[in-house]
Amino acid sequence: NAPLSEVDPEIAQVLQRELDRQRGFLEMIASENFVPVSVLQSQGSVLTNKYAEGYPGRRYYGGCEEVDVAEELAIERAKSLFGAGFANVQPHSGATANAAVLHAIARPGDTLLGLALDQGGHLTHGMKINFSGRLYDIVAYGVDPETSLIDMDEVRRLALEHKPKVIIAGWSAYPRQLDFAAFRAIADEVGAYLWVDMAHFAGLVAAGVHPNPVPHAHVVSSTVHKTIGGPRSGFILTNDADLAKKLNTAVFPGQQGGPLMHVIAAKATAFKLAATPEFRDRQERTVRGAAILAERLVQQDVKDAGIAVRSGGTDVHLVLVDLREAEIDGKQAEDLLHDIHITVNRNAVPNDPRPPMVTSGLRIGTPALATRGFGDEEFTEVSDIIALALLPGADVEALRARVAALTARFPLYPDLQQ
Ligand code: PLP
Repeated sequence: NAPLSEVDPEIAQVLQRELDRQRGFLEMIASENFVPVSVLQSQGSVLTNKYAEGYPGRRYYGGCEEVDVAEELAIERAKSLFGAGFANVQPHSGATANAAVLHAIARPGDTLLGLALDQGGHLTHGMKINFSGRLYDIVAYGVDPETSLIDMDEVRRLALEHKPKVIIAGWSAYPRQLDFAAFRAIADEVGAYLWVDMAHFAGLVAAGVHPNPVPHAHVVSSTVHKTIGGPRSGFILTNDADLAKKLNTAVFPGQQGGPLMHVIAAKATAFKLAATPEFRDRQERTVRGAAILAERLVQQDVKDAGIAVRSGGTDVHLVLVDLREAEIDGKQAEDLLHDIHITVNRNAVPNDPRPPMVTSGLRIGTPALATRGFGDEEFTEVSDIIALALLPGADVEALRARVAALTARFPLYPDLQQ
């Protein structure tokens, strides 16, 4: 039982260098966040040793008394946070949660209607070589090329034409709120299930700064590690008792074997924290930070450089930057921001003229910096740094120094030793 630094110094060094990287960079990948130390503690705990196939009180293994308590807490807290009658907290990830949802509500060959990957959807919503695209018949809706918004008339037209079994509302790269009631009305009109994948915006929902899909959808899936800022994992909610049974069976034994009890315990803690006023404050700073970023990126000098903000702004935790008219492409912009120690990801824009490994867009998110403590003033500063970096002739050294001043003011995991 020697420490990691002795057993495996190479891996110990990876952990230390990664901690240094996270401390020294400004993390603006929209799907990332920093878990609290309390969550790290559960994830690095002896619960990782336990097999617990089944559900609390109905396990296929002995010795589950303690992990049952952890899972019950996670379930009850998830239900209360989102106002749902049922929660399954066992999915290892967002993708496995989504696989279980489809397992429960559709059969291979059924038609699904979801947002196309290149328009902001997720792989599990029907991408060709994902299980969803291979097992199901996919019809995809997109965003309006002018407004970058989902056109509900188009969703309805496609739904009436193709009579899907499932309509998917949810996204990985879309800067606006969805109209869940309108999606549900269309689903009811064609006899489809409405499945909302709130993986990205679940933290905003928990804090009450974004509409809750649970009252509208037949089923809602999510991750825990994006805006919620909990452990890397997924969960599923519904208010329909029949679907609840099907979802449990679809997760185990349909989709997974033993649940990750150390992660489930960490989910319980993340859900507890998500019910606090501090969490609400953080989500408010997240959304305001994204709005500030969008405002700073539509100023005249930025516009003059051919840089635009898709849909003209945001009402969530991310901004999509459109570089189709700019000299700089998505890859160059990502690399340049990396050079000044800001991490973002390039992202294709609809009808992107550049290839997928280059792209003409950036997706920039504020959740991790809000967790780090950023408020309006710091988001204004980081937005100005990004705008200057994207303009021709950026002074990389000077911008890196401004980033360093911000990272120094907001130390990350100050007491953590890896
Ligand atoms: N659903 C959506 C909308 C996502 O954006 C993602 C992750 O990017 C997922 C599901 C999948 O989550 P995971 O990476 O945990 O499998």
